[in-house]
Amino acid sequence: MARSSDPSPPNLYGLDREALAERIEEHGAKPYHAGQIFRWLYHFRRYDPSGWTDLPLPLRARIAQAFRVDPGTIAGLASARDGTVKFGIALSEGGTVEAVSMVQRERVTLCLSSQVGCALDCDFCLTGRMGLVRHLSPGEIVGQVALIQEDRKLGGVFNVVFMGMGEPFHNYDQVMAAVRLLADPEGFGLSHQRITVSTSGLVPGIERLASEAVRPRLAVSLNATTDATRDRLMPVNRKYPIARLLEACRAFALATGERFTFEYVLLRGINDTDADVERLARIVRGQQAKLNLIPFNPVPGWLDYQPAPKARVEAIRDRLLALDVPVSIRWSRGAEARAACGQLAVGVGPSHPVGRDDSDRLLVPDRPTEAAEARPPAPARRKR
Ligand code: SAH
Ligand code: SF4
Repeated sequence: MARSSDPSPPNLYGLDREALAERIEEHGAKPYHAGQIFRWLYHFRRYDPSGWTDLPLPLRARIAQAFRVDPGTIAGLASARDGTVKFGIALSEGGTVEAVSMVQRERVTLCLSSQVGCALDCDFCLTGRMGLVRHLSPGEIVGQVALIQEDRKLGGVFNVVFMGMGEPFHNYDQVMAAVRLLADPEGFGLSHQRITVSTSGLVPGIERLASEAVRPRLAVSLNATTDATRDRLMPVNRKYPIARLLEACRAFALATGERFTFEYVLLRGINDTDADVERLARIVRGQQAKLNLIPFNPVPGWLDYQPAPKARVEAIRDRLLALDVPVSIRWSRGAEARAACGQLAVGVGPSHPVGRDDSDRLLVPDRPTEAAEARPPAPARRKR
């Protein structure tokens, strides 16, 4: 097989059946061979064509000559005491992203990245500080799942959330192609209902999602109850203000008959006032939605916000429950490994405790890594 480090041969990993069939046709393959290769790649996670035992030997040899099969590699990992593991993943086309595995009451959830960096520049998110480096291909997205499945010896049942680095709807087509590979019974075989895509509120993406045949669940990062605050926190609001976003959410629920989730990161003194809570209740009750409150995960020196105190978070939850809002708190997981929401970034932020750790110990370096020493100074707070 062509070596995975050799960039020249085209990569088969990430292609769907049709694209595989097109690619292998000139090597004497029949269309049904594409279906067989599809199963080897995504269902069995066997990347060396010599092991594809239901294909003729000469065809396997020709494929090994002409292509590489590269889902990426795990470059390092860091574990937190709560069972959260952050993976640094070296991508097949270059660069690194982070993906996170979380375990809660036997249930495993993988948090995937859809882009290297993010263009949307939310003021409370470390990924936003990277800017957009590039979009990920479907293979680079599902490769994160395959690598973590292999490393953690995961069975076939787990949840996937697109809540890592990037805005999934800014990379819509590739994310949906990845969702189809994940949901294909002969691929990863995951129920589409176990897959959730979280958006900062790109309205055209919400509209498109409603008509997808294989549709993941929708989560919408609301994070403010007035346009003035949301404009400041999330520049995307200037293009798609709250009323427009809520209209798209309502149309989505109507067209699909599905409930969705609002996410709301609680920032002390910014979006956690009593008036915010009353407005939030009205917004959520007016939709087929439930609400996840997310305590802010700070990155001192980089993100200029404070978390709402725990007692305040619980009081907000209780007030919302009293107002008949279906609400839960998503307590942060993996913060000590910098693996929590909004803490994923490569090349910006504090030192990354990502190193090879086979023992699953907590891995927090006691001195800054080289990358951290070389990092640029924290950006000054921007005026909005
Ligand atoms: N770009 C998408 C998905 C990735 S962000 C989106 O914005 O929805 C996933 C979630 O993390 C979002 O709900 C976002 O609001 C939240 N988030 C970002 N930074 C955070 C931080 N520092 N603390 C807590 N949550 C954060
Ligand atoms: Fe991008 Fe989401 Fe972070 Fe905003 S919160 S910068 S959309 S990753």
